[in-house]
Amino acid sequence: MAIERIGVIGAGQMGNGIAHVLALAGYDVLLDDVNKDQLSKALERIDKNMHRQAARGVIKDDEIAPAMSRIRTTTALDDMKDRDLVIEAATEDEAVKKKIFQDLTARIGEKTLLATNTSSISVTRLATATDRPERFIGIHFMNPVPMMQLVEVIRGIATDDATFQAALEIVRRTGKTAAYAEDFPAFIVNRILQPMINEAVYTLYEGVGNVEAIDTAMRLGANHPMGPLQLADFIGLDTCLSIMQVLYEGLADSKYRPCPLLVKYVEAGWLGRKTGRGFYDYRGDHPVPTR
Ligand code: NAD
Repeated sequence: MAIERIGVIGAGQMGNGIAHVLALAGYDVLLDDVNKDQLSKALERIDKNMHRQAARGVIKDDEIAPAMSRIRTTTALDDMKDRDLVIEAATEDEAVKKKIFQDLTARIGEKTLLATNTSSISVTRLATATDRPERFIGIHFMNPVPMMQLVEVIRGIATDDATFQAALEIVRRTGKTAAYAEDFPAFIVNRILQPMINEAVYTLYEGVGNVEAIDTAMRLGANHPMGPLQLADFIGLDTCLSIMQVLYEGLADSKYRPCPLLVKYVEAGWLGRKTGRGFYDYRGDHPVPTR
């Protein structure tokens, strides 16, 4: 199954990173978002990140222009009709994703493969919004996509071998390493990572430590490159909360109960770096803890 033309739906933190690595790997990329501003921001970010990689010697300067020329943008799902594969990387919300897949299914050729970058939602369930569960798969890139080596590949109950092999080939061509995960809530990485982040928020909520103490403790005491609250801001607190809700509901176990303080931050619109404020305030020269 030769894949050359890939559509990416959602041009947020993940969508722009996915477009970045696919374009560098030589794929023709069409990036879609409902929000036009997100598309122009994504192109700017990709260009900036590629220059950063070139400055560090990760890629060559002369790779940038051809890669950028392989990325086009659109706000019309109709433009996805010539794609060999479409990867959905929109907001972590099951209703939003299902609607995208329903709308897409009506517009694409019958051979087009569909993939989701969801962090936690059942691949099998999302596939039911399409007419092709056998050609539907989870390809879960990590954030920031250009830097992170791992991609989780998740088969739904009906995913066929050809689709699985096609997904593995994409991971290989982007120079990354695949880990195969079964389709259970939050797969492997987030099944382990998000309860730790949620526990860090409980630690803050119960007053065991403040933001700085908790992050310093885990950086220096557990040798994590980032503290859990800093990492939560980086991921996006809305995404962290959605994943905890999927774990809580999907596994019906109270140990996954989202911390009320995490809910409060999300309700305030303090979603972390992407909105300028979360467990830290990023609006000044240096991040300042908000607790
Ligand atoms: P984000 O909030 O940065 O971006 C989401 C984008 O989707 C926005 O630009 C929004 O305008 C767009 N969007 C929403 N509805 C849309 C629609 N109907 N059609 C087209 N675009 C639409 O979120 P993100 O962090 O990029 O996360 C995207 C997906 O990737 C989620 O499923 C998330 O779980 C997953 N993911 C996130 C991370 C992370 O660390 N943030 C890591 C791995 C996977």
